[in-house]
Amino acid sequence: MQEFTVRTQRRTEFIDITSQVQQAVSEAGVSDGACTVCIPHTTAGVTINENADPSVQKDILDMLNRLVPFDAGYTHAEGNSAAHIKATLTGASSTVFVQFGELALGTWQGIFFCEFDGPRNRDIMVKIMADGEE
Ligand code: ZN
Repeated sequence: MQEFTVRTQRRTEFIDITSQVQQAVSEAGVSDGACTVCIPHTTAGVTINENADPSVQKDILDMLNRLVPFDAGYTHAEGNSAAHIKATLTGASSTVFVQFGELALGTWQGIFFCEFDGPRNRDIMVKIMADGEE
C-alpha cells in the first residue's frame, strides 16, 4: 500500500490526482492488475470524471453544493453534515484497472480527490494488485 497527501485550499474543491496515482502504479512495478484509491476521511471522497475541460469539475462541484447546502437544519453538532453527505455521494474509493503498467482510464477520464470540508491536509491511500499470473 502506498500513501500520499494533498493540501486542499478551499472549503470544497476537486484536485486531479491522476499523476500521483500513476506514479504509485509505476513504483509498484505492476504491469497488469487493478489499482484502488481509498480516502480515509469522512468528509472527503474520490471520483473519476472528465479532466479535459475544467468546467466539468466546476459544474459537478457547484451542483453538489446546491444539492447539499452547507446549512439545512442538520443535527450533527460538528456542523459539517453537508461534507459528510457529499462524501457519501462520491464514495470513499475508486478502482481502475492497470494495463501495461498504465492506469486504464478513458481518454477524457481523470481521478479526482474531492474535498468537502477544507482546507486541510488529506491522506490518499493507493493499493495496486497484480493479476494472478504475474
Ligand atoms: Zn462531522
